[in-house]
Amino acid sequence: MKLTNRSKVVSNKEMTFMEKLYLPEILKGMAITMRHALAGPKGKVFSYPEQEKPRTKFWRGLHVLKRDEEGRERCTACGLCAVVCPAEAITMTSAERTRDEKHLYREEKYASVYEINMLRCIFCGLCEEACPKSAIYLTDRLVDVETNRGSFVYGKDKLVEKINERVDITARQSELQKKTVK
Ligand code: SF4
Ligand code: SF4
Repeated sequence: MKLTNRSKVVSNKEMTFMEKLYLPEILKGMAITMRHALAGPKGKVFSYPEQEKPRTKFWRGLHVLKRDEEGRERCTACGLCAVVCPAEAITMTSAERTRDEKHLYREEKYASVYEINMLRCIFCGLCEEACPKSAIYLTDRLVDVETNRGSFVYGKDKLVEKINERVDITARQSELQKKTVK
């Protein structure tokens, strides 16, 4: 069954004598390469890392674990994000909030440990969609360059937003979500 119109019929025609020689085709390819090399960049080249390519607000990059308007962590360690994650990149340990911790955690249960392995993550955004507490969002930020594999396992120290340095995710929320997120 044909699902889209993107498929192309591949031609199996015999190669001509000139094509079998290969040399003319190689020269043609080199001529195209030279033409582009001599023409220079056409305003689409960014000298990274000094100059970053602009990213859309909907870019699916580094996650953030959000706090609520009172500064309490929103995540209740329900595990839905971990279950839905196709790359099995998320792990967590839940804990029960004590009476003295009501100002730290929004719900009675919270994640004492929450980790995302950035080498496994494929930035699909399913964790964001699955979260019933609007606690996890992807952002337009990039994952840092690291020199060893262990450093790519991001814990709460890197994922939870800083209380005085909030991450704006409103551009990612639908109008309905903006109204319903409490
Ligand atoms: S973005 Fe996708 S792959 Fe990455 S942690 Fe979330 S669900 Fe897993
Ligand atoms: S981030 Fe959301 S889905 Fe994941 S454990 Fe926390 S509350 Fe549940």
